[in-house]
Amino acid sequence: MNHFHYINNNLHCEEVPLSKIADQVGTPVYVYSSHFLEEQFRSFDSAFAGTPHLVCYSMKANSNGALLRTFIKRGAGIDVVSGGELVRALKGGCDPKKIVYSGVGKTEEEMKLALEKGILQFNVEAVEELTLLNQVALRMGQKAPIALRVNPDVDPETHAYIATGLAKSKFGISQPKALELYRKGAQMKGIEIVGIDCHIGSQLTRLAPIEEAVQKVMEMAKILEAEGIVMSHIDIGGGLGIVYRDETPPTPQEYALAIRRIMGNRSVKLILEPGRFLVGNSGILLTRVLFNKERDGKRFVVVDGASNDLMRPALYDAYHQIQPVLRDSGRPVAIADVVGPVCETADFLALDRELPRFESGELMALMSAGAYGYSMGSNYNSRPRPAEVLVKRQDFFVINEREKIEDLTKREKIPEFLM
Ligand SMILES: *Cc1c(COP(=O)(O)O)cnc(C)c1O
Repeated sequence: MNHFHYINNNLHCEEVPLSKIADQVGTPVYVYSSHFLEEQFRSFDSAFAGTPHLVCYSMKANSNGALLRTFIKRGAGIDVVSGGELVRALKGGCDPKKIVYSGVGKTEEEMKLALEKGILQFNVEAVEELTLLNQVALRMGQKAPIALRVNPDVDPETHAYIATGLAKSKFGISQPKALELYRKGAQMKGIEIVGIDCHIGSQLTRLAPIEEAVQKVMEMAKILEAEGIVMSHIDIGGGLGIVYRDETPPTPQEYALAIRRIMGNRSVKLILEPGRFLVGNSGILLTRVLFNKERDGKRFVVVDGASNDLMRPALYDAYHQIQPVLRDSGRPVAIADVVGPVCETADFLALDRELPRFESGELMALMSAGAYGYSMGSNYNSRPRPAEVLVKRQDFFVINEREKIEDLTKREKIPEFLM
């Protein structure tokens, strides 16, 4: 996290003091380091140098167009999970031939759009999905390039809400069913089988579950190839974990080495779908303290950012490190909850945290908020969405304006009888 660092006890992003951004753009605001984004992409991509591969940034982690462009300019493809994401990826300049389309619930409209644009691959998750895709493609006089998303039934050893590769989760197709479906798909005139896919979960901090999943996928590929069903792409999804607190996730080099060891030197293209790894530690949520509150010995720091802006603590009990923007080692330290103005008990950003005393009006940074932060946000409590800012050395750029209160009602319509 060294792109956020103190200079004269003032927290900076690269060379810009965060207090300057707060003064000019207001709070709450997401701030990202462009240098960090570039570095993460470079280190991930170069870990696979020498292996034919395509890094498809999983844009649900953060779909801001400036972040997309940062990766696309460096050769990235994009992993999308909706028609909206597909359009954003194309708008960001992504070559359709570098777009993979994941997700359990693609609509016919979305399939049409993706076929029209000529994407690289649909990751198909069910029999009915494959049947519909075949029909849609036939009607358009096309062949839909597909991989089946296999559920390898491995325990990714992560939070239950972000584990996707267990038999009980809604994702993917079981291995025996997938073999059957591949054989069926090979007969479908609107389907072109191009690969096999899996994604076992997010924030993975150990290699063993990934190795087990890749092993299983490779075994399936071998069986299918013996039957003449050729796999040109092996897509192993995303999930590489990052440091929020004291985790020790594998490095991209270790991750790449483990995968390559299992794949051997087969001449297939490896597709990777990292999300969190590329953006998680690139960003913070910068918020201002409103009040300190104490009740029955329990301390609360009320800030202007909330769970609608950063949902991870409420949703996953996620840990985000907290830093004061002005560091002062002389302050007393005490245990406190950091909470927002939203009317929910789950509206917290940190619980029972040992923190220096924050004065009202002071700035607080919630670290590691670049992934699944803004993109998961909502307007709950009619709170306009925060702004997003990208820092490049001594300059900063608003890459998403703060939503205005007027924006909240602009699509609402009042029926005549209520007027
Ligand atoms: C969410 C998701 C990813 C990215 O996961 P990260 O943990 O952010 O790397 C990749 N592939 C699929 C199919 C996903 O749903």
